[in-house]
Amino acid sequence: LYADLSAASCSDDLTKSVSYGDVCHFVKNEMENTTYKLIEALTEQLARKVLIHFPIIEKVTIEVKKPWAPILLPIETVSVVMERAWHTVYLGIGSNLGDKEENLKTAIDLLKADELCKVLQVSPFIVTAPVGGVKQDDFLNGAIELKTLRTPEQLLNLIGEIEEKLKRVREIHWGPRTIDLDILYYDNEVIRTKCLTIPHPELQNREFVLEPMCNLAQNLCHPIFGKTIFQLYEDLRNKEN
Ligand code: ATP
Ligand code: CA
Ligand code: CA
Repeated sequence: LYADLSAASCSDDLTKSVSYGDVCHFVKNEMENTTYKLIEALTEQLARKVLIHFPIIEKVTIEVKKPWAPILLPIETVSVVMERAWHTVYLGIGSNLGDKEENLKTAIDLLKADELCKVLQVSPFIVTAPVGGVKQDDFLNGAIELKTLRTPEQLLNLIGEIEEKLKRVREIHWGPRTIDLDILYYDNEVIRTKCLTIPHPELQNREFVLEPMCNLAQNLCHPIFGKTIFQLYEDLRNKEN
């Protein structure tokens, strides 16, 4: 179990730590009351449940050993080891169709309803003019800070489901939409796959992203540019003037 124990060690106060006895009983209970076909699935679910049930725990490493696996060889145990942790994520959110504020709030409620996400902060919403040349209504934009147990791909899937629930239709690229959720940052990770670029490749060019981000994390450092949100915002404003 990985946790920040500085408060507990300075105060000698158990409530600021995590009781390993409680964790043991919690794991025993889970093992006795749930059945899985795969030790992979068991390990994944145990990691999730421990991280959700004990908020002070930031990361776990779990090894599940299976004795007497049916291999017909003298092998005592096979095992699966997993490391799972809460990740810090920033999302950009925008709407320019229908009741924009309601759309943003509904999307945030759907994020809150996901047990693998904890919404920590939401920026004030700002009205911004559309970019990209398509003639359309102004946007309402904001940014969200959350902790998640989802991988970047799993988070992208959740975003897609929320956009679908809010009836977003993709007609024109950069056109009007009831809701748009973008992953801006995922920890300090740099990712470039076919369906995912993190940090978001346009964030440094967008005032409507940097301004709300300044409210949440102005000192957050960009893993490629080595600049804080505030510096990127200043650079952009200097360029525009
Ligand atoms: P932009 O990404 O320039 O803001 P957009 O938000 O209008 O444009 P979408 O149509 O919402 O673009 O997304 C197109 C695809 O972008 C998504 O299907 C997704 O696979 C991909 N994508 C790549 N990186 C990201 C990211 N960091 N966050 C969200 N989607 C991403
Ligand atoms: Ca976008
Ligand atoms: Ca998007």
